[in-house]
Amino acid sequence: MLTRSDCAALDAKDALAGLRVEFDLPDGVVYLDGNSLGVRPKKALERARAVLEQEWGNDLIRSWNKAGWFDMPLRLGDKLAPLVGANPGEIAVTDSTSLNLFKVLAAALRIQSEKSESAGRKTIVTERANFPTDVYMAQGLTEWLDRGYRLRLVDTSDELSAAIDSETAVVMLTHVNYRTGYMHDMRAVTEHAHAQGALAVWDLAHSAGAVPVNLNEDGADFAVGCTYKYLNGGPGAPAFAWIAPRHQAAFRHPLSGWWSHATPFTMQPEFTPASGIRRALCGTQPILSLALVECGLDVFAQTSMPAIRNKSLALTDLFIALVERRCAHHPLTLATPREHRVRGSQVSFAHPHGYPVMQALIERGVIGDYREPEIMRFGFTPLYTRFIDVWDAVDILADILDGQKYDVSAKRDAVT
Ligand SMILES: *Cc1c(COP(=O)(O)O)cnc(C)c1O
Repeated sequence: MLTRSDCAALDAKDALAGLRVEFDLPDGVVYLDGNSLGVRPKKALERARAVLEQEWGNDLIRSWNKAGWFDMPLRLGDKLAPLVGANPGEIAVTDSTSLNLFKVLAAALRIQSEKSESAGRKTIVTERANFPTDVYMAQGLTEWLDRGYRLRLVDTSDELSAAIDSETAVVMLTHVNYRTGYMHDMRAVTEHAHAQGALAVWDLAHSAGAVPVNLNEDGADFAVGCTYKYLNGGPGAPAFAWIAPRHQAAFRHPLSGWWSHATPFTMQPEFTPASGIRRALCGTQPILSLALVECGLDVFAQTSMPAIRNKSLALTDLFIALVERRCAHHPLTLATPREHRVRGSQVSFAHPHGYPVMQALIERGVIGDYREPEIMRFGFTPLYTRFIDVWDAVDILADILDGQKYDVSAKRDAVT
């Protein structure tokens, strides 16, 4: 039977173990929430200081040119590209995931409406279990557009398949589900969407930096995603938007601010979109926050997504096995697929007292989070999570459950 020293032995031969020193992790914490807010890269402190002291403090307005502030959304997009199977010139790091969804959905609907064969397609199809902001943004857009546009929510994979039909303009899906960690087959769903005449928009919030993604190879049309989760970009750091090269020339979104203009400093009253991915931008970016995204991306340059995937599956397999061994007599239900092919980089267990149990874990230094209904969510981030962390987390979970060391009347915080 596996022991803690076996876990230490796994760490000793882990090819990614050396990357943990790139991050500042507080003592006494097992951090299993990098799927919600990644930890701080050590270099971020130094970088923040340089932006504040030198670039802003000393160089002031000159930094737009001198420090490359103006081109940063595209330069960082190029750095992010290899992590999601994209090429340089295809990604902008900008705005929030919610806003980028609005932009790419609007652009995708417009592309469909401009072709006579797809002009009658008015439906966006997504899952009811998608992350709420994705559903809300699509709802907001379709209601605001009016003109017959509507959102169709489906509950199962079979229903999804059948719902993609001759009325579908866009299929919008989150690649890895935030609650269960279920991962869609991007290629299969995209091919099905295309065969039915629809475009495919993918949200990579729980995929970028977590699982291998091949946007170009899989034929996706548009994608968005977060940098503050597995990419360790910092709280509220700008998100990203990807446009397939074949759609760039036709890509027009209604948030056409001056940063997406072909020549912003000619101050023309007419809008002419920039060529290429720059047209996905809107206005001035939060430079301090944007600059820190690079510190997270630089760590990924030292490894590869296949190596990250191998360790992610080993960590999640180990966590599932240990919980099922040590907590077998407790009412825990695995909500995450066992099958590797459809598993992201998290493990979710439902428990009738999920919220208080998670609060007790956090008090004991094991930080995961809670999602309705009853889901305790544990994110596994191979860059800094060790096999002994998995052991220790399960050890504490078993102790809390065995001793009922949680407060069933625990009050809900605003953020769970
Ligand atoms: C985290 C997450 C978001 C977050 O969107 P914001 O605009 O950054 O608040 C959106 N979609 C999915 C699927 C997410 O997991």
